[in-house]
Amino acid sequence: MKRAAPIPVTRTAGGILYQLARSDRKTLCLMVAPEGRVQARAPRRMPVEEIDAFVISKSAWVRGKLAVMARPRPAYSVEHEMAMRKKARDMLPGLLAQYASQMRVAPTKVTITGAEKRFGSCSSKGALCFSWRLFQYPDAAVEYVVVHELAHLIHLNHSPAFHAVVQGVLPDWKQRKTLLKHPPD
Ligand SMILES: [Zn+2]
Repeated sequence: MKRAAPIPVTRTAGGILYQLARSDRKTLCLMVAPEGRVQARAPRRMPVEEIDAFVISKSAWVRGKLAVMARPRPAYSVEHEMAMRKKARDMLPGLLAQYASQMRVAPTKVTITGAEKRFGSCSSKGALCFSWRLFQYPDAAVEYVVVHELAHLIHLNHSPAFHAVVQGVLPDWKQRKTLLKHPPD
């Protein structure tokens, strides 16, 4: 016999609105979906008081998550984008010349894009793309992305061999990469 999907029950505990979904699971878990929906997944027979208490005990964590999600994403002006595209055009030729010769590779084409999700990419044909958004970050981070994409001209994957190439050129690539995790100024 097939069981129907659990019907979520909307509850409030500790000022947090959450949906309770019961199923045959053994443990209780709490999650915050990207759109800000808080959901508790609980075993069928667990008393609601226990679930509410759990939500209350995790309320600081939930509020922190919701606050991060509510943070507005920066909308950039056309002027800002133009300035960053100019910075890309100014910086890229020198960086590419330096590292491409050091790594003995040659991209077939280089394009500046507006990609939001990735700062750089490399096609199987050896064409590199860099997003203007990358140029909002410190030069050390830009250099890392340039070397990363050039290394894909040798290994079109993220294998240990690929990372060895990056490591050989930029021994501090891991620190440089972390710079990309913080939002730009
Ligand atoms: Zn990559």
